[in-house]
Amino acid sequence: MLIGALEAGGTKMVCSIGNLKGGILQRASFPTTDPETTIAQIAGFIGQFGVAALGIGSFGPLDLNPDSPTYGHITKTPKPGWSGYPLMPELQKRLGVPAGIDTDVNAAALAEFEMGAGRGKKSLLYVTVGTGIGGGLVAEGNLVHGLVHPEIGHMFLAPLESDPMPRGVCPFHRGCLEGLASGPSIEKRWGLSAKLMSEDHPAWELEAAYLAQMCANMILCVSPEVIVLGGGVMQQMHLFPRIREKTLELLGGYVASGYVTKEGIASYIVPPALGVNSGVTGALLLGARAYEAAKTEK
Ligand code: ADP
Ligand code: ZN
Repeated sequence: MLIGALEAGGTKMVCSIGNLKGGILQRASFPTTDPETTIAQIAGFIGQFGVAALGIGSFGPLDLNPDSPTYGHITKTPKPGWSGYPLMPELQKRLGVPAGIDTDVNAAALAEFEMGAGRGKKSLLYVTVGTGIGGGLVAEGNLVHGLVHPEIGHMFLAPLESDPMPRGVCPFHRGCLEGLASGPSIEKRWGLSAKLMSEDHPAWELEAAYLAQMCANMILCVSPEVIVLGGGVMQQMHLFPRIREKTLELLGGYVASGYVTKEGIASYIVPPALGVNSGVTGALLLGARAYEAAKTEK
């Protein structure tokens, strides 16, 4: 049995074919242009394989309320043509199979929870640090949706005195996490590509300090059993020990867990165990869940 997976991004759409267990067999990628062209390419590729269901991890914001008439639509986005676009219903109609949808970060969080760094745990926080910053949270075994869906990337931080650009780049809040710590914010602050910065560049101490504030806040608010940090910026592996150390400093010994200690934290704030496959694996798992749900309904 085959499942189709779509990782819908603002610049590209990655389509994969896999199995119910999240194994990946085929892949194709199309640029995100206008919805008409893009959706035809996606449906054309996935349609060849006779999949039993489709899972979508998408850029947002999305309407994820199953009772809403616009469930599975992209809501407000600056991406031309995509505001209000019925992404899931349209693909479901063209492919004629059950479909499941969630945000790209929730999909990645689900994959890490079920098959990666969160195996055997009851909760997990996944945060991606790239062009934007997004977070997905699994609590008591379920993805947290709430009012809309969590927007962890926009939590407010305390800007540091040593920051040459304390007014960040987020058009909504300036100095939120995304405004201060996303890839574009690093590049604007220092006038240099983040990929080209050496490990001793002052950018990284600041970056680690901001990500540590996020980790400390999330530990205090939701107490996740593991924190997974992914995305382009986290390719800088030297950030991990710095973030761990600063998180411990911020928490000041207050949190009574063996994981929130010098010895424990290396297995608590970790890179994605599924590497770059977290997103696609999560989309496949969403498809598998939609398939199971449709079977139960019958
Ligand atoms: P996106 O968020 O667009 O899906 P990425 O997670 O790759 O994609 O994030 C892209 C951002 O991450 C860019 O701002 C880029 O500068 C930064 N980035 C990508 N790779 C690296 C790297 N190896 N080191 C530091 N920053 C990186
Ligand atoms: Zn913001």
